[in-house]
Order: sequence, then C-alpha cells, then structure tokens
Amino acid sequence: MSYCSKCGEELIEKELENEGMIPFCRQCGEYRFPMFNTAISAIVYHPEGDRIILIQQYGRKNNILVAGYVNRGESAEHTLIREVKEELGLDVIRYTFNASEFFEKSNTLMVNFACRVSSGDLSGVNTREVDFAGWYTPAEARDKILDHSLAEKFLLSWLDKQEYYKE
Ligand SMILES: [Zn+2]
Repeated sequence: MSYCSKCGEELIEKELENEGMIPFCRQCGEYRFPMFNTAISAIVYHPEGDRIILIQQYGRKNNILVAGYVNRGESAEHTLIREVKEELGLDVIRYTFNASEFFEKSNTLMVNFACRVSSGDLSGVNTREVDFAGWYTPAEARDKILDHSLAEKFLLSWLDKQEYYKE
C-alpha cells in the first residue's frame, strides 16, 4: 500500500492518458507519481586523457567510481561538477553523458558521465569521504573496478564504445 505524501490518504490506481495506471489521491484529487532519487556517477579522465580515477570509500577495498546524489533543483551536470570537486578537489573541464540505469536497491536513477579534469594532482582528495583515489589506465581500470557492480557496467560500456569509435 502507498499513501499520499501530502495528506496521508491511501492511494488508488487511476488511468492517466498516455501514462497508464498511476497512483492517485482521491482526497487531493491529484496523481502521485512514484518518488525516487537521482544520482550521478563519473568516469574521471586525467588531463592527458590516458588514465581514469577509481576510488575506495567507507573502509572498503572495492574500487568504484565517484558518485553522489542530485540535490532538489540541481541539474545532473551540476551535480557531476560539484561531486568531482567535493570528493577529488578537481575541476571538470568537459563532460559527456555515457549511460543511465535504475538501481532498485536504493530506489535511485543513476546517471553516468565521462569527464575530464584540469589537473592530475590528487593531493586535494577529500579524505573524509574518500579513503583512496588512484589513476589507472583503461585496461587496469577494467580489471580493478568492483565486479558485478553498476560502476563496472558503466565503465565497461563506456570503454567498449571508445574502442568502437576508434576503429
Ligand atoms: Zn492526498
């Protein structure tokens, strides 16, 4: 059962043109679309374009991508720039969309970008959020990224595309 986020009334399913059956509050007379979170993750390239950053967080030895939640009112692009700065202390100078996927476990739409930063200096890494950050060649990153993770899926799909466009 789900309930109205404004008045607490139990929601019913009601047909909405072109959208199908959508939760509806009879009290408010409004549709209540299911709520979910949005987050970004980033494949961060060295200024020379030959290496990628993988990080470790929360005391785990898993190599993952920089990621963070989109704030209300913020664009995904802005979140990307903000998170790279907050976690790595680096400035994004260009970026492009890679792929997105809904992550059921955290009820989150993950939007993945590839980007390039203006410096390879990792001395500004935020040690409260990031235990370790390192540069890896694409081949090393492929090998080291956490197996069976969404980060791995994003990274491999991106690297495969780069190979494809090079040919
Ligand atoms: Zn309501």
